[in-house]
Amino acid sequence: IRRELHRTEKLAVLSELAASVAHEIRNPMTVARGFMQVLNQAQVSESKKQIYTAMVIEEIDRAQSIINDYLSFAKPQAETLESIDISSLIQKLMNLISPYASLRDVQIKVQFEPGLWIHGHLEKMIQCLVNITKNGIEAMPKGGTLQLRGYRQNGRVILEIHDDGVGMTHEQIDQLGTPFYSTKHKGTGLGMMVSYRIIKNLSGEISVTSQLNKGTCFKISLPAVVIRS
Ligand code: ADP
Ligand code: MG
Repeated sequence: IRRELHRTEKLAVLSELAASVAHEIRNPMTVARGFMQVLNQAQVSESKKQIYTAMVIEEIDRAQSIINDYLSFAKPQAETLESIDISSLIQKLMNLISPYASLRDVQIKVQFEPGLWIHGHLEKMIQCLVNITKNGIEAMPKGGTLQLRGYRQNGRVILEIHDDGVGMTHEQIDQLGTPFYSTKHKGTGLGMMVSYRIIKNLSGEISVTSQLNKGTCFKISLPAVVIRS
């Protein structure tokens, strides 16, 4: 399915989303407020204070993640697209996700054809790939291998992100990209939606194949840019 997201359409999505974002932020705020009220009472034991404080911080972090993810979608982008060299894009991506991967015993393998270029917004593309690779890493709680591949096919640049993690059911795959759909304790359920929109904005396509307990592969296809030297 190739389709451009037009400005008015994007605005509609934004305002629709704003309402649910407000709702999702209100929840952790209410919880945090409740804990603060309890903490304010003199007779709270030291151990309970610690627990409540940790919970308040967790709720605030959650609200913050939601705001960050939403803003990355809502942030206006320049009308003109820049030429992006995939190898430098991947280098920047690696700098961002490597620490997260090694912390979780995930090895990253990279295999890219040279000379791959696309049109896009560098920051948005990084955001898109961070969201997908982060999910891949999180899908492997016992560690594993994340494979990133890039090649050219029929005038398009194909980027593949494989993990050998928990995988998804058909029902889960159908929910992907729905705002706030998350199976994670601290998930925001905004990452995939943001990634899908970024790719669609570039006349790209994104597909997913997944098998429960085997792993998942996201495949992104974007028009290739011909660079003459
Ligand atoms: P979040 O990561 O905050 O939960 P996302 O929008 O990034 O939100 O992802 C939504 C859901 O999609 C995840 O909670 C997870 O259930 C599922 N998902 C995404 N990527 C993968 C993957 N590589 N393997 C397994 N499940 C995934
Ligand atoms: Mg995510």
